Amino acid sequence: STSGERTAKAERMFELMDGFLKNDPLSLQKDILDHVEYTVARSRFSFDDFEAYQALSHCIRDRLIERWHDTQLHFKRKDPKRVYFLSLEYLMGRSLSNSIINLGIRDQCADALSQLGFEFEVLAEQEGDAALGNGGLARLSACQMDSLATMDFPAWGYGLRYQYGLFRQVILDGFQHEQPDYWLNFGNPWEIERVHVTYPVKFYGTVEEEILNGEKHQVWIPGEMVEAVAYDNPIPGYGTRNTITLRLWAAKPSNQHDMEAYNTGDYIDAVVNRQRAETISSILYPDDRSHQGKELRLKQQYFFVSASLQDIIRRFKDVHKDLNQFPDKVALQLNDTHPALAIPEVMRVLVDEEHLGWNKAFDIICKIFSFTTHTVLAEALEKIPVDLLESLLPRHLQIIYDINSFFMEELKKRIGLDYNRLSRMSIVEEGAVKSIRMANLSIFCSHTVNGVSKLHSELLQTRVFKDFYELWPEKFQYKTNGVTQRRWIVVSNPNLCALISKWLGTESWIRDIDLLMGLREYATDISLHQEWRMVRRVNKMRLAEYIEATSGLKVSLDAMFDVQMKRIHEYKRQLLNILGIIHRYDCIKNMAKDDRRKVVPRVCIIGGKAAPGYEMAKKIIKLCHAVAEKINNDSDVGDLLKLVFIPDYNVSVAELVIPGADLSQHISTAGHEASGTGSMKFLMNGCLLLATADGSTVEIIEEIGEDNMFLFGAKVHDVPTLREKGSTIKVPLQFARVVRMVRDGYFGFQDYFESLCNTVEGNNDYYLLGADFESYLEAQAAADKGFIDQEKWTRMSILSTAGSSRFSSDRTIQDYAEKTWGIEPCRCPL
Ligand code: PLP
Repeated sequence: STSGERTAKAERMFELMDGFLKNDPLSLQKDILDHVEYTVARSRFSFDDFEAYQALSHCIRDRLIERWHDTQLHFKRKDPKRVYFLSLEYLMGRSLSNSIINLGIRDQCADALSQLGFEFEVLAEQEGDAALGNGGLARLSACQMDSLATMDFPAWGYGLRYQYGLFRQVILDGFQHEQPDYWLNFGNPWEIERVHVTYPVKFYGTVEEEILNGEKHQVWIPGEMVEAVAYDNPIPGYGTRNTITLRLWAAKPSNQHDMEAYNTGDYIDAVVNRQRAETISSILYPDDRSHQGKELRLKQQYFFVSASLQDIIRRFKDVHKDLNQFPDKVALQLNDTHPALAIPEVMRVLVDEEHLGWNKAFDIICKIFSFTTHTVLAEALEKIPVDLLESLLPRHLQIIYDINSFFMEELKKRIGLDYNRLSRMSIVEEGAVKSIRMANLSIFCSHTVNGVSKLHSELLQTRVFKDFYELWPEKFQYKTNGVTQRRWIVVSNPNLCALISKWLGTESWIRDIDLLMGLREYATDISLHQEWRMVRRVNKMRLAEYIEATSGLKVSLDAMFDVQMKRIHEYKRQLLNILGIIHRYDCIKNMAKDDRRKVVPRVCIIGGKAAPGYEMAKKIIKLCHAVAEKINNDSDVGDLLKLVFIPDYNVSVAELVIPGADLSQHISTAGHEASGTGSMKFLMNGCLLLATADGSTVEIIEEIGEDNMFLFGAKVHDVPTLREKGSTIKVPLQFARVVRMVRDGYFGFQDYFESLCNTVEGNNDYYLLGADFESYLEAQAAADKGFIDQEKWTRMSILSTAGSSRFSSDRTIQDYAEKTWGIEPCRCPL
């Protein structure tokens, strides 16, 4: 069409547009009813809570789309340097409440609904969780997306749209069972399918040599192709119009004709083979420990990386001709090594497809990638067997070998022929199973290597990546993890949110978290104390109702609610907690009746999922139930002690439990938790911590002081010595006694628990439960004592919230933007 026709068309469109959607209650009501009728296809005179939730979500989605379009257009016009956050996992949880709050229309929506006879909270409960991740790493990605949007950064998140998210945990007779989480069953209003944003992703095949302009080139002739289809999830910022994109890829059979190398066979086989494509994005791997050597996992990684990079390069090329400018416009963030195949993939595109030349291409690589590692343990680092890579991605293997030989040459110049060190640092691990060390590849090719807490970074520098740190100290940084106060206070604890705003005289802390420190000034104010306790009690009531609904157990609100909720791991030491509870139970049983009056009543709450193949973690869950059965039915104990396991821990359960906790436990063996983010959420909500000096807790101590928490246990530098001592460590008698109670069948299932008991005895006690038991009990006793003095407890609680500002993901993202990615805010005008 001519430019005259185009102008006429644009003018006509403007005429037809009503302007932006309005947010007054009447307009919202009208939009909700329209969606009931035309989207959900129910009668506007008869629809239930779930249908009302669907209609409301679509009404909010419309508003998100407006802002999202504006933001994308603004980014396009301004063309700033963008950051692309590559993560295989996002634990987003529910979207409705968060979106409404970030759009600033919470009250209008509640009004609109109440006039239609619905309650906002009830509708919000209808939404299922988007659980496309395992634990801390995945929730971190979600918090960081919220901060990126809120702080106006030009950012994109990329990930996979798994059809089955993290399994649902069902407890039968105290044992964990896993059920599939088909979260898309009832549709997902928060995503937009982009049927036209698709890319071919290729696998298998061979590499052949070609002569081009007299030069030899390697060409990959793939053997299989699938299609990646984009699903966009708009992520709204708070207090800004900026709404960024989380683009998740789903695998579909390719519509193109099968390639030569693809042997279709007969018609039925061909169709069945094409169906196989969809399995690539079908399931999230439910183990957060390791994913070694599984072909499907490798396929997922490459599928996600290839589609994302095609998209990123396409966006760059829409505007720029010269790939040398790529580093000025693009920062690629690797969230752990899961997306590290992006490195050889960018090399392949630059060298094989763009014919840029190896040195030029490698120079670009080193300027665009930054890598964040989330583990402490060398054995948990991801390795890909060479055989697997050779068959699935033969050209990528060649490129990795090329990078490695260049790396080895560089190294030899620096360290000479120190073969031990060369083999430790090599990207290729020789041995029974020859493998690619994805962390070594990521470190060598990234300009920055980040740890996730100060302590983690020290451990990376002195232990895990010592060899690398000594040669390239300037690469190593750390950005302590953070959590978003929007979801973890404003959405999940509205009463505390209102109280904080009242005392600070402003809501600005929701965007400017440093203001939260202002609460310190009122930490001893008696009227704040009263209001603070009132808010906490209402939250405890909500939690107590949930406990009764899920487990049938009635709990006293006067008891201390003591929570440990996180993935079940031996290093996180849920077993230490349970053994401590057995000790408490044993003490109460052996006390004179009169003395029992002095006991501080407790409700111990444990929750978390065990990886399906992690036997010891599953035994810990069973032990928790067996002990609960005994304690909760013992009339000698009554309200003095209760133990509850809350099933199916996920983001929405966390939103309910965290605001109601008095005390929370973060008790990993020092040196094992890279950061921990659960602790930050509890801290923000005024819950006191009982913790070891591990991960980010070390910085929490710096911020709020040891006096405002209950610290115990061996320090990082003590751990190796204690391990060496092994069975010669003198463990307290109480420890031996409680382990014996389990061993002797006091809680039943004697044979089943035997192997679990073995893990904490003598030389086997790798996680040092015995060595830390005494100081654990002392910290617990200090917590009891503290709880009796409610004034002191409340002061500590206020100071915990006030001191949590350093642990906002806004601060983490600001640090990344300045020190790692080199990006600037790009705010969409209102
Ligand atoms: N799982 C869920 C659902 C969470 O909300 C969190 C919070 O950060 C985690 C896991 C991680 O908890 P932690 O850091 O205590 O291991």
